[in-house]
Amino acid sequence: MRASTYPLVDADVAAALVLDRTPVLPKERVAIGEAVGRVLAGDLRAASELPAFSTSAVDGFAVRAADAGATLRVIGESAAGRPFAGGVERGTAARILTGGVLPAGADTVVMVEDVRLAGDAVRVPKDLRPGSNFHRPGADVRAGELVLTAGTQLSAAELGLAAALGLAEVEVRRRPRVALLSTGDELVEVGRKPGPGQITDSNRWALLAALREAAVEVRILGIGPDEPQALRRLVVDALGTADVLVTSGGVSVGTHDLVKPLLESLGTVHIGRVKLKPGKPFTFATLPDGKLAFGLPGFPVSSLVTFEVFVRPALRKLQGFARLQRPTLPVRLGYDARATADRTEYQRVTLRREGAELIADTTGSQSSSRLLSLAGAHALVRIAPGDDGVAAGTIVEAMILALP
Ligand code: AMP
Ligand code: MG
Repeated sequence: MRASTYPLVDADVAAALVLDRTPVLPKERVAIGEAVGRVLAGDLRAASELPAFSTSAVDGFAVRAADAGATLRVIGESAAGRPFAGGVERGTAARILTGGVLPAGADTVVMVEDVRLAGDAVRVPKDLRPGSNFHRPGADVRAGELVLTAGTQLSAAELGLAAALGLAEVEVRRRPRVALLSTGDELVEVGRKPGPGQITDSNRWALLAALREAAVEVRILGIGPDEPQALRRLVVDALGTADVLVTSGGVSVGTHDLVKPLLESLGTVHIGRVKLKPGKPFTFATLPDGKLAFGLPGFPVSSLVTFEVFVRPALRKLQGFARLQRPTLPVRLGYDARATADRTEYQRVTLRREGAELIADTTGSQSSSRLLSLAGAHALVRIAPGDDGVAAGTIVEAMILALP
């Protein structure tokens, strides 16, 4: 064992440094059918208005409001996609179907339920108001209106809107390609029976899920050995295509911890230790061509918490998200949170509703190896370093992972 030469960096300073060094990936055009989950690269303005013409909201009759109470002659029909070629004049009406164009001359639509029909004569009610039961041009979207801003993630409504505006493709940011590597001679593939001293590689699957939720492309490199040359070959090969390398294990100060020297030989290590619990050995490096490397600690909870605090916001910046952080909500602590003297702590909590409030309960032992402290957790509560801790009953801002 040797003492680490890396300075202990404040957790917030480290998080800001990571984002500062993280680029935004280039733009690309993607068919709207392939764009779900992608992030808009630029603001989207409507080239034309919606609806483009006055369109009926109901099935009924297009008439002039001035003809209220009269019996009108039905002179034609306007169905969706089949406009009526003529116009509605005094004493006449046109049958109109939902989505049909309002004929020239008509200024209101009467619902079919509200008329009396006999042959080609229709009796309309006495109280007609102009402008009823149809959508005016531009009522939904004005021409030139800013409809979606850069950094918005595209989902159902956004893609429907893009299609309605006639866009077959949208300009989005490229998805980050992430190479994922577990390191450690003690690791075996899931499903295999571990031999003496061996454990199952669980970080790979936990981090794979976290990466998928972050909407990136993942290439699994498998298990890397605690052997410098073999590890280096794996990583160098992966960096041929990957934008980001995420490793777990091999970043503490034991002699088998090879990730930091490897990253030093490939690029610049900016962070080698953080005043963070769990996750003190978190390592961050920049590599040639704007690539990034995150050396996450081996302990399962440490790897996932450092993913949340450092990697996820960086992956969101790469793919152009306007909002990089998880949302936060004020919650009332349901337990006495003890602080760690020299490190910011991210404690895992479940949330429950009590009246209008959310109460945060601890998930139990916060050991960095105990994944049960994170399984089912709804939020992370950040406890500043010091001697005092935070007393039960205090309101704190919690980083929301999922709502109860
Ligand atoms: P290390 O950072 O390599 O010293 O690992 C710290 C601890 O995390 C050790 O107890 C490792 O066995 C454990 N660990 C490392 N990698 C993994 C992994 N992929 N899955 C589960 N546990 C791991
Ligand atoms: Mg190891």
